[in-house]
Amino acid sequence: MNEIVLCACSGMNPRGEVARASVYDVAQEDEECKICCIVATGGGKQKYVDMAQANKIIAVNGCPQNCTTTLLGEKGATVDKVLLVPEILKKEGMTAECTVRMNENDEKCVEIVKREIRKAKEELQ
Ligand code: SF4
Repeated sequence: MNEIVLCACSGMNPRGEVARASVYDVAQEDEECKICCIVATGGGKQKYVDMAQANKIIAVNGCPQNCTTTLLGEKGATVDKVLLVPEILKKEGMTAECTVRMNENDEKCVEIVKREIRKAKEELQ
């Protein structure tokens, strides 16, 4: 089974928080997934740059600005799937509410985004 790198947006807004929590959960629960820290990657930490360049990547962004995708590209990594949290949640009639500490609504948003990450992962394997 291929390893998949998950990389979340670090936006200081509710969609960014849902992106980070979703990526973290899936990486904890699915052994073939690894997390790439986008801030460390953008800052030039070689461990993450190497990981991003060597594996398939799913980027989870908090908005269409797609910062995660852009930063990975600048470090020579190709993003295989791009997920946008607001688009995913809109289809389910949901909106994330909190920026730093999650409420019950945001935990439901995380479960929705986790399902989409796993769908994207299956398409890449
Ligand atoms: S993708 Fe959007 S939410 Fe995420 S860091 Fe960039 S501007 Fe902020």
